[in-house]
Amino acid sequence: MAHLNDHYFKLAAGYLFPEIARRVREYAANHPKKAERIIRCGIGDVTEPLPAAVIKALHKAVDEMAVRESFRGYGPEQGYPFLREAISQHDYQSHGIAISAEEIFVSDGSKCDTGNILDILGPGNRIGVADPVYPVYVDTNVMAGNTGPASLGGSYEGLIYLPCVAQNGFVPEPPPGQPLDVVYLCFPNNPTGATATRHQLETWVEYAIRNETLLLFDAAYEAFIQTPGVPHSIYEIPGAERCSIEFRSFSKNGGFTGLRCAYSVVPRELTMRDGAGEARPVHPLWLRRSTTKFNGVSYPVQRAAEALYSPEGMSQVGELVKFYMENAAILRAALSQSGLSVFGGIDAPYLWVHGPSNLSSWEIFDRILNEVQVVVTPGSGFGAAGEGYFRVSAFNSRQNVEEAGCRLAGMSW
Ligand code: PLP
Repeated sequence: MAHLNDHYFKLAAGYLFPEIARRVREYAANHPKKAERIIRCGIGDVTEPLPAAVIKALHKAVDEMAVRESFRGYGPEQGYPFLREAISQHDYQSHGIAISAEEIFVSDGSKCDTGNILDILGPGNRIGVADPVYPVYVDTNVMAGNTGPASLGGSYEGLIYLPCVAQNGFVPEPPPGQPLDVVYLCFPNNPTGATATRHQLETWVEYAIRNETLLLFDAAYEAFIQTPGVPHSIYEIPGAERCSIEFRSFSKNGGFTGLRCAYSVVPRELTMRDGAGEARPVHPLWLRRSTTKFNGVSYPVQRAAEALYSPEGMSQVGELVKFYMENAAILRAALSQSGLSVFGGIDAPYLWVHGPSNLSSWEIFDRILNEVQVVVTPGSGFGAAGEGYFRVSAFNSRQNVEEAGCRLAGMSW
């Protein structure tokens, strides 16, 4: 008889976004006259069309596919050299970081990359995640059998949760006691919008080198950093190439959520221990995993990603980022006006807002939906430390942002 992976049964139901959708549906059914007014500021999906440089590159690549001489079939699993070179040049070398093209692995998304990386890690690692957290890091570890069951509060036995609260600026600190073997860090952060300073990242890199910890650094939102001096890459910290894998995505800066392209960086110097305790390079394992289980991102999409690095592409990405960050500023001002404590939204397209202390995240969600027909994301859905908070996404049309801002500003708490 075939057996299922029982670890899947430990997963707390895909609760957050389906539950939001259920409540919104119910509200709309009970208040048909207000249903049209609903503005969704919950989900972190882009709203603006792809940059013109990307569309041009896509058209050109599609035309190439129509001609025998320029048609492309399977490409290199790790990505075409033209894209890997552009990434290493523009995202690293021009910033003084010695990451080469062969250390870049092109993929169809950071969601897949942050989940797939577990394929090359052994069992029994002590794994640290931030709380609140991007749920993919947690659920993929549950699926891989790296946790025990979920508690009533939704945390999983076996994972080490690092609380991110206002007091620590929503930046997790290395925990005391037995060292962690693997730590997920995400900056700028989803959901809190927090960034880590150079000093905070230096602390993590120093910890990782001392304890032979692997840092999994998710920089999906690095393009939104506005404040000078905030690190965009973990490799800005000396020594990080010996202890870190970085994940980046074209989803949010280039508007690729529907086109799909991202990459991971596995430096040649990165080593981890095998079962016999010998230090082994990680790069060959990730290469092997990629070539065995993946057949690469489509040629037109890789050409489209390459176009983001052209002079026009870079300026168009700059415009997109500016647009969403103006949205964030509008929402930040509006929410502050209503008297709530607002975090994030300065170097990230997310705002993390603390409601009145007598209300739970879901109570706040219901109140905002009922009073002003705006949909936010309850903070408790991202982890126990998110209780009492809600997240507002700046990915929206300007019209929706202005209207939602106006309504939120007028709420009295
Ligand atoms: N990492 C973080 C922190 C995210 O918030 C998201 C998407 O919302 C992703 C990764 C996924 O990115 P991709 O679209 O490349 O799969």
